Amino acid sequence: MRIGHGFDVHKLVEGRPLILGGVEIPHTHGLLGHSDADVVIHALCDAILGALGLGDIGRHFPDNDPQYQGVDSRVFLRAVKVLLHEQNYRVGNADISIVAQAPKLAPFIEVMQTRIADDLQCEVNAINIKATTTEALGYTGRKEGIACHAVALLAVDETY
Ligand code: MG
Repeated sequence: MRIGHGFDVHKLVEGRPLILGGVEIPHTHGLLGHSDADVVIHALCDAILGALGLGDIGRHFPDNDPQYQGVDSRVFLRAVKVLLHEQNYRVGNADISIVAQAPKLAPFIEVMQTRIADDLQCEVNAINIKATTTEALGYTGRKEGIACHAVALLAVDETY
């Protein structure tokens, strides 16, 4: 087994869609970034890449590369899944914590889990997502940005 951790933050701005865990969420603000700024998928990719000993998302998908401008971050997740399978691993489970003061994310968690499991070709119950506020404290509490933590445990894939 191998374990990895990922952490990411993106700034909230007006005039951008809010994409979290591959799901567009109705909100007054969205996350700023070179790609679609899906902080959940970025943190998860970093956790998996970390577990594989393959660096981070910036090394594989540089944010100054024009081909990733505005890209759906699920493209990154699927590419990470390919690396994972190439090394004969699968995601045993991943646990993800989104830190956001607003909006309320509970109604969207299940569909995020389903999309991520779909991209990683793993069981839906292997992907756990939760959301917390910071009780209005700090940059997330002031709604200046959204942060996400992720841990992933990889297991040798016996099906290969
Ligand atoms: Mg990011």
